[in-house]
Amino acid sequence: MFGGTFDPVHLGHLRSAVELHEALALDRVHMVPACMPPLRDRPQVAPQERLNLLRLGIGDTPGLVADGRELERDGPSYSVDTLAGLRDEYGREARLIMALGHDAFLRLADWHEPQRLFELAHLVVIDRPDHAAPLSSALTELIAGREVDRPELLMRRAAGGLLRLALPTRMALSATAIRQRLAEGRSVRYLLPEAVERRIDAASLYRHS
Ligand code: ATP
Repeated sequence: MFGGTFDPVHLGHLRSAVELHEALALDRVHMVPACMPPLRDRPQVAPQERLNLLRLGIGDTPGLVADGRELERDGPSYSVDTLAGLRDEYGREARLIMALGHDAFLRLADWHEPQRLFELAHLVVIDRPDHAAPLSSALTELIAGREVDRPELLMRRAAGGLLRLALPTRMALSATAIRQRLAEGRSVRYLLPEAVERRIDAASLYRHS
C-alpha cells in the first residue's frame, strides 16, 4: 500500500512505486489517494479527480493499481482502516507492506493508531532527497526493535517490521512544487506523465494557488 494525497500524482510517486514493486518483489502496489487526509490542509483538487489523474498516470504500468477505496469511506482517511481492509482481502498470512516517504514517516507517531499499523503491515520508508530531519523521541519509541536492514528479513513475517530503503532513483520532486509551477503558468513537462499533464490542462486544474 502506497498512500498519499496525490495532488497531483507525479513521477516521484510513480517511479518509487515501480522500484518498490521490483526491490521488494511485490505482487502489486496499491496506490491509494486519501479522500480527507487527517494531518494536512484540504487538497486543492477533489478526491475523484485526483483518483482520475492517478489512473491516467499509472496507465498500463505492470504491478501498479489505482485504488479508490478511501473515497468510499466517510470521515478522515486513516491508513490503519485501509490496511485493515487489505488484510481482510489478502488474508492473515499475506506479507503486507505500507510504503511511505521519509517526510511522511517523520510524523508517523501522530497518525491514528500508529502501533496498530505494525500489527497489520511492515513499514517501508523511502529515502527522499531534502528530507533528512532527525526522528522525534515518540517516533524512536514507536519503532524500537522493529528495524531490519535487508528486504529479505521482511519475508519471514506478515507484518511488524520496518525497513528504510534507498531506491535506485531518488527524485527531488514534490506535488507542492508542481502546483506552484501550474499556478504560475510555468512548464511541468517531464515532471509528471503526459496523460496527467493533458488532463490538468484540459480541466484547467491548479491554475490558481
Ligand atoms: P505535497 O508536496 O503536496 O506534500 P508530495 O509530493 O509529498 O505532496 P504526497 O501525495 O503527499 O506527495 O505523497 C505521497 C507519498 O509519496 C508520501 O509518503 C511521500 O513521502 C511520498 N513521496 C512524495 N514525493 C516523493 C518523491 N519524490 N520520492 C519518493 N517519495 C515521494
